[in-house]
Amino acid sequence: MKITDIKVTTVSANFEWVLVKVLTDQDELTGIGEAFTGPGVKELILAESEHGLGKDRGIWSLRHLLIGEDPTNVERLARKVYTALSGIIGTAGSIVQVISGVETALWDIAGKALDAPIYKLLGGKYRDKIRIYADCHAGESEDPESWARRAKEVKEKGFTAMKFDVDKPSHRAVGYNRCLTNPEIKTMAGQVEAVRQAIGDDIDLAVDCHWKYNTNDAIRLANALEPYNLLWLEDPVPPENVDAMKKVTASTNTPICTGENLYTKHGFRRLIETQAVDIISPDVSKVGGLSESKKIADMADLYYMAVAPHNIASPIGTVAACHVCASIPNFLALEYHAIDIPWWGKLIKQEQSLISEGYIEVPEKPGIGIELDEEEVAKHLKQGERLF
Ligand code: MG
Repeated sequence: MKITDIKVTTVSANFEWVLVKVLTDQDELTGIGEAFTGPGVKELILAESEHGLGKDRGIWSLRHLLIGEDPTNVERLARKVYTALSGIIGTAGSIVQVISGVETALWDIAGKALDAPIYKLLGGKYRDKIRIYADCHAGESEDPESWARRAKEVKEKGFTAMKFDVDKPSHRAVGYNRCLTNPEIKTMAGQVEAVRQAIGDDIDLAVDCHWKYNTNDAIRLANALEPYNLLWLEDPVPPENVDAMKKVTASTNTPICTGENLYTKHGFRRLIETQAVDIISPDVSKVGGLSESKKIADMADLYYMAVAPHNIASPIGTVAACHVCASIPNFLALEYHAIDIPWWGKLIKQEQSLISEGYIEVPEKPGIGIELDEEEVAKHLKQGERLF
């Protein structure tokens, strides 16, 4: 079996969902994946560009690197692209996002070719259904009552865990100094308190800061939120400074989580080795794909850290992540960021709702185990896009 082409289609929703299709020389056998969105992602797959001098002059193109290859050599092909293109594009960012989308599609092909769901190729499953947490964003206003209302709505949908963004409205920290005032911490704690009262103690609650604050103010915030028994406080400080993150983690009983902005095993190595957080949140569609995510989870498991993957994807990226979540021991919860997109689940051919009572059942069909409804996808394309 050989790869014959790679195609891309972008869906426009609350985020752009970059869907990657890998075609093979076996008529019916194609693979689907999703790459985390961003400038240059689609271009990296499709573009061709000359570089080098004299007889070493060559064309770099992800398609050229993969066409003619056996798609079931998933890990080698991901490394081939990373090795060939990192000199021009770097070792993080769009190149790794592209690899993530293509790697997922290769797993889909490998699973279909071997008549096995992807999770079996990753070593089998620890669980039959994947716990999903709903990203709720924030209340309609600063008023804690509006946060409580939002929390109750989400709880009624059956979710057992949810997350709110306390750094919203985003005017906070626009002074660029990363400082939090006492009134701001009080407002945030009031909102979290209102949510906790609305959902009760049995529903898990996480809180996101989007790397806005300095170390000391992040510690003050984490301590102020301790009474509400958070599942985690996410990105209280920027993730680049592992020492600062470790200091926050060591200074509070609130569990600390980071990872959505990190790429590959290398991006996680020091964070994990120094036990700078309690929970890591790699994004499977961004960090390098399914294999890379599983390896990162294994590294974290050495230090008894849990994994709660970040996810803003369509059903394709979400279910791909479910195969990883099924195959690792230290899974905690997987993000769902499309609670306000009513057609999210319609992008796949499936009668029953993909998420039921806050869980996704791990698919048993070969490959990724879900099929794109291309007629529905065509209704939501980004302006100027064509379907594959
Ligand atoms: Mg986040």
